[in-house]
Amino acid sequence: MFENLRDFDKEIYESMKKELERQQRNIELIASENIVSVPVMETMGSHLTNKYAEGYSGKRYYGGCNHIDEIETIAIERLKKLFNAEHANVQPHSGANANMGVYFAILSPGDKVMGMNLSQGGHLTHGSPVNISGKYFDFYEYGVSKNDGLIDYNEVRKIAHEVKPKLIVAGASAYSREIDFKRFKEIADEVGSLLMVDMAHIAGLVAAGLHQNPCEFADFVTSTTHKTLRGPRGGFILCKEKYANLIDKAIFPGIQGGPLEHIIASKAVAFKEALSPEFKNYQNQVIKNAKALSKELINRKINLVSGGTDNHLILIDLTNKNITGKEAEKILDEAYLTVNKNTIPFDPNGPFITSGIRIGTPSITTRGMKEEDMILIAEAIDLCITQRNVDLAKDLVLKLTKKYPLYEENKLMK
Ligand SMILES: *Cc1c(COP(=O)(O)O)cnc(C)c1O
Repeated sequence: MFENLRDFDKEIYESMKKELERQQRNIELIASENIVSVPVMETMGSHLTNKYAEGYSGKRYYGGCNHIDEIETIAIERLKKLFNAEHANVQPHSGANANMGVYFAILSPGDKVMGMNLSQGGHLTHGSPVNISGKYFDFYEYGVSKNDGLIDYNEVRKIAHEVKPKLIVAGASAYSREIDFKRFKEIADEVGSLLMVDMAHIAGLVAAGLHQNPCEFADFVTSTTHKTLRGPRGGFILCKEKYANLIDKAIFPGIQGGPLEHIIASKAVAFKEALSPEFKNYQNQVIKNAKALSKELINRKINLVSGGTDNHLILIDLTNKNITGKEAEKILDEAYLTVNKNTIPFDPNGPFITSGIRIGTPSITTRGMKEEDMILIAEAIDLCITQRNVDLAKDLVLKLTKKYPLYEENKLMK
């Protein structure tokens, strides 16, 4: 057999090593990313990938699944406890698949659905015309109000009464304020539609009890496991018991084949971490850092959509800075600050150029950074986008990433 990666495949090994060095050197500000623990990684890169286990615990289509059943059952029980949910499916390979699972379970092609406008904070899988959701279902969009950048619940209600959708989707990828799921549920009930909450971005904050738990209100809750929740790349669905069968069948055999049991084991480990008191402190610090960073950016005359944040992310409005989102992403990357360009509500530029950047604190908080470090990060961002001084910014970044080493005590890529 092939003994180890370094000797067998130099090309992949070298690129992986360079990627590790990039992660260690850069300040990771992409709001949808995080840094997983070694136990979470260990389970992912394990022999569990060898096993086929189509079906569910106790009802598999393959032999030899008894230990896999133990693992998947533990993952489900921990997840249900974490969100106080009636039923959990841990098999979705991604957040997109989790959403597709719910749609496939309860909608027919052409059914009416409401979702948040993509350029105002929604996700591709909430009805974008280039995504299967927008191609197969009849999506109507709601958005934020022009004056304060907040979801306009009166408008959501008005559209819901006009459209009478079968399903309303709440949840976002670029919205820095707390979402009122209770309000969404009231609107859904008024017009007789089902409610799905996609908490992909904020699942960690919800798990720590810092944001409203959508399981209290929604018929279906979907999520990724790799964003604030800090697990492996993957997804899950939570639902009321009465939908359990429909959801399980929609994922398998509906839209997926064999589950990724190495990833499911890793999800179980991440859920165990999320149930710990340390995780609560971590999520608290994520929000504290985001608020501190907001304040420092505002002090430097950098405008934020909605004027601040309640969660882990900040949407910077660059329209007063004479720089596009695309240019800002590039210049920040030169200073080793990793961000993504993002449309702002009512963006005069399209999604390839954009007038904003989205930043978030999950990764830097995992690395150990605190409020005082946010001053340096705000300074580095300002040096890049206002003064275009990459060299000075880079010095600040390198100082910080040296102070907070990443995976150095481990044998990664040795
Ligand atoms: C990230 C995200 C997804 C998709 O997750 P993938 O794992 O990338 O498919 C779905 N919905 C929302 C709101 C997201 O932010």
